[in-house]
Amino acid sequence: MSSSPIKYELIHKDKHSGARRGRIHTPRGIIETPVFMPVGTNATVKTLTNKMIRELGSEIILGNAFHLFLRPGLEIMKEFGGIHNFMNWDRPLLTDSGGFQVFSLKDRKITEDGVKFRSPLDGSKIMMTPEKSMEIQQIIGSDIAMAFDECVDANSEYEYFKESVERTYRWAKRSYDAHNKKEQALFGIFQGGLFDDLREKSLEQITSIPFDGYAIGGLAVGEKYQDSEKILKKFGNKMPENKPRYIMGIGSPTMMILSVENGMDMFDCVLPTRMGRHGTALTWKGKLNIKAAKNKFSKDPIEKDCKCYTCRNHTRGYLNHLFKRNENTGKTLLSIHNLHFNITFVKKMREAIENDAFLDFKKEFFENSDYPLEN
Ligand SMILES: [Zn+2]
Repeated sequence: MSSSPIKYELIHKDKHSGARRGRIHTPRGIIETPVFMPVGTNATVKTLTNKMIRELGSEIILGNAFHLFLRPGLEIMKEFGGIHNFMNWDRPLLTDSGGFQVFSLKDRKITEDGVKFRSPLDGSKIMMTPEKSMEIQQIIGSDIAMAFDECVDANSEYEYFKESVERTYRWAKRSYDAHNKKEQALFGIFQGGLFDDLREKSLEQITSIPFDGYAIGGLAVGEKYQDSEKILKKFGNKMPENKPRYIMGIGSPTMMILSVENGMDMFDCVLPTRMGRHGTALTWKGKLNIKAAKNKFSKDPIEKDCKCYTCRNHTRGYLNHLFKRNENTGKTLLSIHNLHFNITFVKKMREAIENDAFLDFKKEFFENSDYPLEN
C-alpha cells in the first residue's frame, strides 16, 4: 500500500451523469469536492487578505512554483520554512510544477533533460528539469505538488504530440523518483492534446505510476469548447476512481459544469479575481459590468440574495464610484463577491450530485442565466 499523505473518499456518484461528490482528507484539513481553488500566484490571492479567503470558505488555494522560485526565491522560502509560514496560511495549498510558465516563455529550449530558458528577471540561464521542479515544490512545501510535464502548443502536429507524450511519461517517472517529501502529495498529469489514441496512451502510462492524484493537462489552452468536451467525455471518468481528479485552468461556470459532469473533482482559475479587478461581477443571471452608467445611482447590491461581505455591505452605486476612481478597495470587494460566487457554485453542484440532480442543476442554471452553453 502507498503511504499517501492524502486520501480521497468517494461519497456519491450522480445517477444521471458522470459527476461525483467526494472528500479529500489532508493533514491540513478536509477538502470537499468538487472544489474550486482560488489562485494565489505570488503567495497571495490578489487584493485579498488571508482572513478574507478563510471567511469565503476556501479550503485550498494555489501557488505558482515558477513565480515563487523567481521571487522571493528559494533562499527566502527556506528561511521561512515554506510557504505556509511565509504567508501565514494554515490550510492546504497546491503548487503547479512551473511547467506552464516555462513553456510560455519565448526563448526556451526543450531537451530530454528539461527546459532551458532565460530568467525573465535578469536574463541568466536556468535549466528546469523534473528534479528541479520537485526540489522547488518541496522547498515551497505545498500540500500537493504537480509532476513536471511538457505543455505542448495546441497547434502542434500529431507527430510532435506523440513524442511529447513519451517525454512526459519519462519526466513523470523522474518526478516521482525525485520526490521524497512524505507529507507532500504528488499528482501526475496526462497529456495527448486532442488525439484520442495519444490521450489513451498517456493516461495508461501516467496512471501506471502510483501518484496520489491525477490531472488532465493540455485543456483550457484556447481550444474549442467542443474539443475539450470530446476529451473530457471520453477520458474524465476513465481516470482512477479512488484518487482525486484535477483539471487545470478551469473557472467559468460553463467549464466548471462541463468538468464536473465528466467526473472532475478539482479546478483552479484566475478568472473570478481577474474579472473582479477589472470591474466584472459574476452573478447567477450572468456577468455584470459594475462600471456601467446604469449602476451609478443603484442602491442595490451586486446580487440581492448574495451572502458575501460585499453584497451585505455595499451598493452597486458605491462600487461603481470606486471603479471610476480606480480605488483598490473596489477590486478587493469585487474579488470577494466573485470568489464567493464560484465557491457557492461548487457547493450547489455538490448538493445537486448528492440528490442525483446534477443535470437539473445544469438545466436550471442555463435557463436562468445568459452564460453561454458552450465557451
Ligand atoms: Zn456578493
